[in-house]
Amino acid sequence: MKKYNFSPGPAILPQVVFEEASAAVKEFAGTGFSILEISHRSAAFKEIMDEGEALIKEILHLNDDYEVLFLTGGASSQFYMSAMNLLAKDKTAAYLDTGTWSTKAIKEAKLFGNIDVVASSKDSNFNYIPKDYQLQGDTSYLHLTSNNTIFGTQIHSWPDVDVPLVCDMSSDIFSRKLPIEKFGMIYAGAQKNTGPAGVTLVVIRKDMLGKVEREIPTMLDYQTHITKKSAFNTPPVFPIYVSVLNLRWLKAHGGIEEMQKTNERKALRLYDAIDQSAYFIGTAAKEDRSMMNVCFLMNDPSREAEFLAAATEAGCESIKGHRSVGGFRASIYNAMPEEGVETLINVINNFS
Ligand SMILES: *Cc1c(COP(=O)(O)O)cnc(C)c1O
Repeated sequence: MKKYNFSPGPAILPQVVFEEASAAVKEFAGTGFSILEISHRSAAFKEIMDEGEALIKEILHLNDDYEVLFLTGGASSQFYMSAMNLLAKDKTAAYLDTGTWSTKAIKEAKLFGNIDVVASSKDSNFNYIPKDYQLQGDTSYLHLTSNNTIFGTQIHSWPDVDVPLVCDMSSDIFSRKLPIEKFGMIYAGAQKNTGPAGVTLVVIRKDMLGKVEREIPTMLDYQTHITKKSAFNTPPVFPIYVSVLNLRWLKAHGGIEEMQKTNERKALRLYDAIDQSAYFIGTAAKEDRSMMNVCFLMNDPSREAEFLAAATEAGCESIKGHRSVGGFRASIYNAMPEEGVETLINVINNFS
């Protein structure tokens, strides 16, 4: 039986990516060596880095004002690196508090400047995206979490503000079109929708930099990684390579435009099945529902084990919800085929 991986992350990647990655572990690009042993400064790997940067620029429609970096430390390191590099001590950064990850980002940013939490959906267990808020006059940027992986909410309408957006897009980058000119910086841990764990993608507009006086350790300074083209130290060679394989797959399948169409089709069908069943209920406010992480509860929680067993039996793995929401969460990133979603819909329908 075919098994489908609905895990929130590390998450599903296309099968062809696994096959190409395995081949490169044995021998990379006719070099006679494994990808795991080649130098990060070899011509063959430099080509991969250049290709990765070019693919990201093409897929996200970035102009030359933006730099693309491959870093380590996860999205969690960007919580402090972003503020350390972008927020002057006497300035304010506005944060929208939409879940566990933004709460963590706020905590770290407070080490570097004034943080104004402009709105929070905490009192309703982060089941919606706040939309009415004002920024203070001295605000340098507005930080957002575009998709709340744990709570299954997603920003569908980007705020109309006159400061740049700094956005944690870990779980929905490359899933839909973006008004890129609004963004001063985007960051994403790769393991949700980009590649394997171990590399963190940072896209930064150059005019965001050079505004802080503080001394920044060399490794934590974005300028270092821009100047050294993400190879100041040894970059995570294999995670970068696998991410590039995935981006090639994405481009060959119509880029972000096609991904968005398929993702919307998959998510709307799944939400429809949940809404039509008397046994299940979606947790997120309808207008803020995530197209990537579909969270739902059972009206009768005592039957959760039974539903989980039925899902597992049908090949749907890792659908248990995060402990802070309970119930179920189906993560349906770019690489989740429509048949996988169809299989889960059948389980829901049969159960109902
Ligand atoms: C998973 C996740 C993170 C944490 O990523 P790490 O790479 O593990 O640090 C941060 N933000 C969001 C939105 C996530 O989904």
